[in-house]
Amino acid sequence: MGTGKRIGIFKYSSCAGCQFQLFYFQHYVLETIQAVDIVYCKMLQSGGEEDGPFDLALIEGAITEQWQADQLKRIRERSELLAPIGSCAVCGGVPAIKNTAHELDAQRRVYEDISVVHSLKAHPVDHYVRVDGYVRGCPPGVRDLAELVKSLLLNKTPRFLDYSVCVECKLEEAICVLVAYQEPCMGPVTNAGCGALCPSRGRACYGCWGPMKDANAKALADRFERMGLGREEIYRRFTEFGEPTVEWKPGQVKP
Ligand code: SF4
Ligand code: SF4
Ligand code: SF4
Repeated sequence: MGTGKRIGIFKYSSCAGCQFQLFYFQHYVLETIQAVDIVYCKMLQSGGEEDGPFDLALIEGAITEQWQADQLKRIRERSELLAPIGSCAVCGGVPAIKNTAHELDAQRRVYEDISVVHSLKAHPVDHYVRVDGYVRGCPPGVRDLAELVKSLLLNKTPRFLDYSVCVECKLEEAICVLVAYQEPCMGPVTNAGCGALCPSRGRACYGCWGPMKDANAKALADRFERMGLGREEIYRRFTEFGEPTVEWKPGQVKP
C-alpha cells in the first residue's frame, strides 16, 4: 500500500546496475520502496508520469548529452527532493573516464561514424542542479538508499556518511593492506558507505564509492609514488571512478 509519496526514477548515461540493485538485490530497500508510489521509472514500467511532480527524484547515470541536462533541470523544478544514485550520477563514475582524453579522441575510439554522436563531457548530477544528498556506490549499498527513502517517509533530513573508508575499515577491525602489504589502497580518499568491503577481504580499495570531500589526494599520491607506482598508474587510480574531481585534485596527481 503506497503512502502517497511520489518517486520518479530517471536513467542517464550508465549501465543501469544501480536500478537493478534498487529493485532486485536489496530486500530491505524493496520493502521500503513498496511503501511509496513509483510514478515514473522506465525500467519498471512503460508510461508513467514523466513530468511529475515528485516528492523524490532518483537520478542514475552521468550527464553526457544536452537533452539530459535540460530534462534534469526540469525534474529539479518539479521535485521536493532530488538525489543522484550511484557513482556515475554522484561523481561521473565510469562514463567520466572519457574526460581524461580529448572528447573527439574518446568518441573515435568507440564509434566509426562520430557525426551522429552529440556527447558532452561527462558530469555528475550536481554539476547542473542542486541535490539533497548522495547515494554513493557502484552500485550503491543498502544503507544510503534506505536512509533516503526512510527520511522521505518520516519527513526528516537524510544523513549520509562524510568520512573515509579507512574509518569503516577500523570499525571492521580489518588489517590495513596499505601499511601491512604495501597495497595501493584508495580508502583514505574514498567516501565511506560500503563497510570497507574490499580491505576487510584483504584487497585494496579502488575508490568505487567516489571521492571523499576534502580528501588529501596529494599525500596519498605521494605515498603511492614512494611505494614504487608510476605517476601514470597513480593518475589512473584517481580517475577510475569519476573525472579528476575537485576532491581528488587532478593537478596534484597528474603525471
Ligand atoms: S554507478 Fe556503477 S552500477 Fe551504477 S550505473 Fe554507474 S556503473 Fe552502473
Ligand atoms: S586498508 Fe585501506 S581503507 Fe583500510 S585503513 Fe588501510 S588504507 Fe584505509
Ligand atoms: S572498499 Fe573501495 S572499492 Fe571496495 S566497495 Fe568499498 S569503496 Fe568500493
